[in-house]
Amino acid sequence: MADSNENQQDKGKEQEQYGVLLYYKYTEIPDLNSLLSFYNSNCTSLSLLGRVRLSLHGVNVTVGGKLSSLENHIEAVKAISLFEGTDFKLASCHFPLNDKVAHECGFTSLSIRIVKELVTFTPYPLVKAPDVSNAGRHLSAVEFHSALQSAGKLVDKESLAEDKGLVLLDARNLYETRIGKFDMPNVDTLDPRIRQYSDLPSWIDDNSEQLRGKNVLMYCTGGIRCEMASAYIRSKGAGFENVFQLYGGIQRYLEQFPDGGFFKGKNFVFDHRISVGSADANILGTCLLCGLSFDDYSSRCRCSYCRMLVLVCDSCREEEAVYVCELCQKHGKVVESNVAENGEQQDILPQVQLKTISSDTILSPQLPGGQGKVLGLQES
Ligand SMILES: [Zn+2]
Ligand SMILES: [Zn+2]
Repeated sequence: MADSNENQQDKGKEQEQYGVLLYYKYTEIPDLNSLLSFYNSNCTSLSLLGRVRLSLHGVNVTVGGKLSSLENHIEAVKAISLFEGTDFKLASCHFPLNDKVAHECGFTSLSIRIVKELVTFTPYPLVKAPDVSNAGRHLSAVEFHSALQSAGKLVDKESLAEDKGLVLLDARNLYETRIGKFDMPNVDTLDPRIRQYSDLPSWIDDNSEQLRGKNVLMYCTGGIRCEMASAYIRSKGAGFENVFQLYGGIQRYLEQFPDGGFFKGKNFVFDHRISVGSADANILGTCLLCGLSFDDYSSRCRCSYCRMLVLVCDSCREEEAVYVCELCQKHGKVVESNVAENGEQQDILPQVQLKTISSDTILSPQLPGGQGKVLGLQES
């Protein structure tokens, strides 16, 4: 009797569910140091791994651990009045099986840091970040869905004259949009095709005429990137007032519309789940080399020049190969069939004049293994 009980307990342990928790909160933090020590002691005692970023203006958290520990963490955070109304996104998942992905995503350690900006929006440290209290209006998944739906219909009926017109703006990076995005017939969709979030302000500057006078519907993975970016668009003044953002991002939308709704493909995520799909199994991505349908980033192939993630299918993938992403190709980097001499792709970087890739792109060639972020691995 006792034996079987113990066995069951062992089994229960083995099957203990793991999870990933994401949340952010923009709010003025009066005592940053005491919040820092709260996170240090709480996350350490619950054995959580991942990243916690604190600034004077809020927190941004991506942590993983046992589901029960994550629930404990949520309760402790909820008890702090600053966090009232926070949207906690908790998902169960497998324990990281892919070490490389776990390492890249920061799920092999716990990193708690005080930073200037929760997400790096401004490419130059001296430029003042926009005021998030001026962010676009939050739309729930259902509101966002029906706004898209009626915009699609309005165009059908050609009754646009009285309507301001609506544009859909994807605030994410190119490699994310490649495998999944909102797609609504008859609705203009703007895809900035950027490598990283901090390239977005200059894209907005260059394309503001496409946004002027429109109802701008923005979305990103979990919502945090739209907070800053929508505030930035609105800061442009007259003609840029009507900016709306999908609250809780694609994540909450897919929970509300498990069949995918107007979202096609998979939602790229910045943890070891890599991407999250809906019941709609459509594959949007294509292999960089052969062009066949493919949307699995788990092999972590990257552009040899700019380190952006690229999709290379199983049959095209070769050890030590040199890949050139479509952005670098567009900017004149040639696809060569040669192979890096020692397989260390980072060795290629110093030979490249990064400045020639794009004059308005500030790249941070921080390489894997360093403390800095690997391009495109954090929702920032
Ligand atoms: Zn291929
Ligand atoms: Zn590239």
